[in-house]
Amino acid sequence: MNDSVSMPARPADLPSVDRLLNLPALQPLLEQYGRAPATATLRRLLDTLRAQAIAGTLTRQALAESALVDTLTAQLAREHQPRLRTVINLTGTVLHTNLGRALLPDSAVQAVMRAMTAPANLEFDLETGGRGDRDDLIADLICSLTGAEAATVVNNNAAAVLLMLNTLATRREVVVSRGELVEIGGAFRIPDIMQRAGAKLVEIGTTNRTHPHDYANAIGARTAMLMKVHCSNYEITGFTRSVDVAEVVRIAQPHGTPVVVDLGSGTLCDLTRWGLPRETTVRETIEAGADLVTFSGDKLLGGPQAGMIVGRADLIAKIKKNPLKRALRVGKLTLAALEPVLQCYRDPDTLAQALPTLRLLTRQPGEMAAMAERLSPAVQTALGDAWQVSAVPMVSQIGSGALPGGQLQSYGLVIGTREEGKRSGRKLQQLEAALRSVARPVIGRIAEHALWLDLRCLEPGDEADFAAQWPAVAEALRR
Ligand SMILES: *Cc1c(COP(=O)(O)O)cnc(C)c1O
Repeated sequence: MNDSVSMPARPADLPSVDRLLNLPALQPLLEQYGRAPATATLRRLLDTLRAQAIAGTLTRQALAESALVDTLTAQLAREHQPRLRTVINLTGTVLHTNLGRALLPDSAVQAVMRAMTAPANLEFDLETGGRGDRDDLIADLICSLTGAEAATVVNNNAAAVLLMLNTLATRREVVVSRGELVEIGGAFRIPDIMQRAGAKLVEIGTTNRTHPHDYANAIGARTAMLMKVHCSNYEITGFTRSVDVAEVVRIAQPHGTPVVVDLGSGTLCDLTRWGLPRETTVRETIEAGADLVTFSGDKLLGGPQAGMIVGRADLIAKIKKNPLKRALRVGKLTLAALEPVLQCYRDPDTLAQALPTLRLLTRQPGEMAAMAERLSPAVQTALGDAWQVSAVPMVSQIGSGALPGGQLQSYGLVIGTREEGKRSGRKLQQLEAALRSVARPVIGRIAEHALWLDLRCLEPGDEADFAAQWPAVAEALRR
């Protein structure tokens, strides 16, 4: 009966759940995953096998005890894998919205940990013993870094814009240049937010040119504010004219009309100090006379997801009284993370080392080049002759709409196939999928008939992890 193992199994050949649960080899799994969850998975596995047996597609081999234990082990590991997983971002985009934007400094991680595991004075005034305001935990710090009179924090910058408009401009007009009616990745469009906030958008100028008199002519009895929006993810070049904040303020002032600015990324310091492209800071915008400025916490600022509104104390007070503020407020974990991040800005000399976002943005190409040279032989060996791996210069982006024109010299691996045309495209997609399938998924990008892995965001501490995964990538490609 040598070939009995390769004969199709019948439903009656399936072992009982009880018999399997008593197998010594299964005991560690029951311990690790818990008896009830592991038993439930085992039942599901047996249901699948029974269906295969009925269809005549199940081999007796698959029913061997060791095979069943292996299958169950794999299935339990799959089911218990968290859905939110850490990945290696080699897309070349440092602030990648789909990959979670800014990474937090260790000081913020520690603060979040403390806030998660012990009660904290979130809304409790330790001096008076009375009720506190969660904004007060960081408002002073934000004000000292931006020069603003007052500040409040909400869930993200989209919420900040919505809350600001809903508080100050319902059933009234908001004047915006046509060149600034932006859509920020996904569902954030200035005209849509305006509508949801109950404000009426008044478009002025043209896509490429808006003049001071366009603003002046638009101001009327129903005008709630003049609004400027940072063109985060595009640039208008050529025959252009826009009106800067200071000029808009000069036009608005005689009418007593507030000027608000959605800065998008919201830089707190001059980035040219580190050789990065120039970006207007929040402080400069406040100094130019803006009444309110909104910006994100997890873009260039390098903190957790949050939206800041800073500016005139009377306007901030109104915004804080809006019931929507309660719906859009941040949780204690966000505030816990934000405070140490803002603290980093008090010392610009250490900022580029302390803040991961700035550290990644200011990495020197030579560092990535050395890494690429180190890694490429191992990657080539793992992938074999069907692929060609080279270490080459490339260009990273800041991302998340920050400095759309700014580009950073970087270095990385470019992996091409020896196939041509359509077959090459399919092979590259298989490689991309194999890289996503490993324990710590690696995300790159396909361009110019090759897979590009920009090493800017592979920090030295992760290099060994990254290198160790290539045999698994090659294995996934063979399947
Ligand atoms: C990114 C951005 C937003 C949205 O900010 P989130 O923090 O992602 O909600 C709004 N406006 C501008 C100009 C932006 O660049």
